[in-house]
Amino acid sequence: MTEQDSTQVLIIGAGLMGSAAAHQLAVRGTEVTVVERDTAASEHGSSHGSARIFRYAYPDPFYTRLVDQARGRYDELERLAGQQLITPGGALDFGTLRDPRHLAGVLDEVGIDHELLPASAAAERWPGINFDTEVLWQPGGGVIDAESTVRAQLRLATDAGARLIERWEAASIRRDGTSYVVTSTTGATIRAAQVVIAAGAWLSKLLVETELPSAFIDRLPQAVVTQENAYHFPYRDAADIGEPKPGAPTSWPTFIHKSERILTYSLPGGRDANFRGQKLAEFLGGTPITDGSTQTGEIDPANRERIIDYVREQVPGLVPEPYAETTCLFTMLPEEDFLLDAAEGLVIASPCSGHGAKFAPLLGEFIAELVFGATAHPRFAVTSPAWAVTR
Ligand SMILES: Cc1cc2nc3c(=O)[nH]c(=O)nc-3n(C[C@H](O)[C@H](O)[C@H](O)COP(=O)(O)OP(=O)(O)OC[C@H]3O[C@@H](n4cnc5c(N)ncnc54)[C@H](O)[C@@H]3O)c2cc1C
Repeated sequence: MTEQDSTQVLIIGAGLMGSAAAHQLAVRGTEVTVVERDTAASEHGSSHGSARIFRYAYPDPFYTRLVDQARGRYDELERLAGQQLITPGGALDFGTLRDPRHLAGVLDEVGIDHELLPASAAAERWPGINFDTEVLWQPGGGVIDAESTVRAQLRLATDAGARLIERWEAASIRRDGTSYVVTSTTGATIRAAQVVIAAGAWLSKLLVETELPSAFIDRLPQAVVTQENAYHFPYRDAADIGEPKPGAPTSWPTFIHKSERILTYSLPGGRDANFRGQKLAEFLGGTPITDGSTQTGEIDPANRERIIDYVREQVPGLVPEPYAETTCLFTMLPEEDFLLDAAEGLVIASPCSGHGAKFAPLLGEFIAELVFGATAHPRFAVTSPAWAVTR
């Protein structure tokens, strides 16, 4: 790489968001380069593996409407990529703190197909799960293959002329006249008219070495990065094991359970765990870390025991012995919102908060619009009232 290397838009990070932005910018004719410190859909980031929940239920209709829009974008992405990225199978929500009745009201309001079932009726339909409240069923839910989505978006982006450079870690972003010079950890440089930072859990580390207007920096919300633990538990019933045929549903639905005791989520693990079982994790059961560079990748043994106990009591359809486990990074923002805003040709995209995957292709469009000079969505802007709470 030489000092002269240049591009119109440089995207830092090839996870779900960087790849979505690259696709949307490249197909609009923008010259795009994506740099990634590791490899695309890095196993050290937040977009690796085959399983993320796709569901419509949110306590706030704003997000349910956004999911509805995002589903259309995923349909289009699947068509362009010629592959299935969301496997159907439906989604369940239950538990006192999840408030299925309220969620059903939101789905009514937005017009999303659903059913609210008494616990006894749900137990008949899904005997592998113990329900402690009414249960919300969304037949439109399913499982997103995150890693395949990243690869599909990057393939479409490179087909449209984008360039991907792996193992290139941005160390600093400095203004130089009307453009930016981004320098890697090895001293290579790329000049770009605009830069999109989609660095996931490494955002705060990179911002320290980024020239941004201080008025903008001062308003940035505080992100909390946690190293989360997730486990795969085998299905007891052999009939549930195996890869679904294309278009066919998974044998189990996804579920979110929030009670006073614990918040969990679970979904068919897919390819990551040989289609043998259900991925299950405690929501925010992980350990806070400063940023992506300080993760250990080690499972917390106390959390593992807690989840084994939970499966024993709550999910009789699974054998309470994990056969695979993984860590993953959450980048949480206040109110579990997303940050998508720009200042002086620099776009910051931090849409994780533990639930961003289902919006990826749509948020890629939002990022492209920011590059083209649009004003940030008020909900995702640095001026969002949500951030004021913790600032
Ligand atoms: C355990 C877990 C479960 C989740 N479950 C769900 C779910 O069920 N449903 C849902 O919708 N969402 C879910 N999510 C959220 C979703 O996966 C994230 O919103 C999404 O992956 C965020 O993508 P990203 O591109 O912002 O970050 P990442 O995927 O982390 O991508 C950032 C990339 O930037 C790279 N990078 C960082 N710094 C630099 C640098 N300086 N130079 C170059 N490259 C750099 C990193 O290596 C990384 O590859 C979950 C997330 C986790 C971790």
